[in-house]
Amino acid sequence: MTLPILPLAPAGQAPARGRDSRPGLAGLEPSDLTAWFVARDLPGWRARQVLDAVWRSAAASIDDVPTLPAALRRAIDDAFRFDTVRDTEIRLSDGGLTEKALHRLSDGALVESVLMHYPARGRQRERHTLCISSQAGCAVGCPFCATGELGFTRDLETAEILDQVRHAARRLAIDGRRLTNVVFMGMGEPLLNLDNVLAAVAALADPTRFGLGARHVTVSTSGVVPGIERLTALGPQFTLAVSLHAARDPLRDALVPLNRRWPVADVVRAAREHARVTGRRITYEVTMIGGINDTDDDAAALATLLAGDHAHVNLIPMNPVAHTPWQASPMPVIERFAARLRASGISTTIRRNRGQEIGAACGQLAAERAGEPTAPTVARRRERIVRESAAALRGERSREPLASGVGD
Ligand code: SAH
Ligand code: SF4
Repeated sequence: MTLPILPLAPAGQAPARGRDSRPGLAGLEPSDLTAWFVARDLPGWRARQVLDAVWRSAAASIDDVPTLPAALRRAIDDAFRFDTVRDTEIRLSDGGLTEKALHRLSDGALVESVLMHYPARGRQRERHTLCISSQAGCAVGCPFCATGELGFTRDLETAEILDQVRHAARRLAIDGRRLTNVVFMGMGEPLLNLDNVLAAVAALADPTRFGLGARHVTVSTSGVVPGIERLTALGPQFTLAVSLHAARDPLRDALVPLNRRWPVADVVRAAREHARVTGRRITYEVTMIGGINDTDDDAAALATLLAGDHAHVNLIPMNPVAHTPWQASPMPVIERFAARLRASGISTTIRRNRGQEIGAACGQLAAERAGEPTAPTVARRRERIVRESAAALRGERSREPLASGVGD
């Protein structure tokens, strides 16, 4: 089912705008907002009123906050943005259980968030999980990922990260429902925008702002070792998920190009240390790609790599994306892989993809909007993926350079 609610202009028709330099209210520290009022000889409690409107009301703009005098609303609007999202298109799938949102930001950058509803089952209460983006595009360039093909546009501001959450929360509130989980598994590499991601997580956890327990937030990384180490030094902030995809360097070089900078053993060592210091179990993600990373040897290598760790492995059938020569591993192959890991004592689940027909692996709607690349570009990309993965499967390490700005 496809149900566009607030349609965006078709690709190519979006007016290119400069970035709006007014900070988004959701990204402000409460003390900074209070200081803004005090500096204007206004009572500091007005800041609380504004924050309540941002975090606890259905208001979509500052004009929907009647408790503020009109002149103050104008002053706030001159200085800040109530919402950093310019417009949003929603598509529903899975009979309404998956809602994919494509948000357009002030400069025209497109980012995606996906809201997934899980009905109550047995003793488990219903859950509403939002998958959000941390960057517009991504520089890491994993070949099975639609965002990776788009390349990097820019980091998201803290408010741009949080406004994806506010939008979903407002939609849920219409039916009296609340968001229960937030996962940073949308577009972008969160640990390459770590300052803004940490500020966003702090706002989510703050009981005076969003008030979501840190245990209900998961951040997924493709393996930025210095970022993991920085998180370890900070102590538990959220659940950390690591996108592993392959336990052996040659194949991981091809599947997660960042591996050429931080090899898999270093990534797992950093993750293990994070688990030891924070006491929080690491989740490893493996996107299962038919004939590429799903063999018995791959399962054995993964079991050896994680032997003795208090870890959890999530196997995710690859979502079909345009311009790759690959497909998901067949389910019996995934089940066999899972059984092999479990036999080694590694807790393993198979995650079934949500919203496949609307491309729930983030980046696919944005890629659609970006328009179809030329046929020679697509052919060159496929040829490179085939060449690099064939070399990887022969056990050769990659000699290709990383995209600039990644792993510096
Ligand atoms: N950049 C971070 C977080 C965003 S990607 C990371 O890579 O971890 C979130 C997850 O979606 C990652 O585990 C990624 O490997 C997975 N993913 C990307 N494209 C996919 C696809 N086509 N099918 C299945 N999973 C995919
Ligand atoms: Fe970036 Fe993650 Fe996609 Fe890799 S899988 S390109 S790291 S968003």
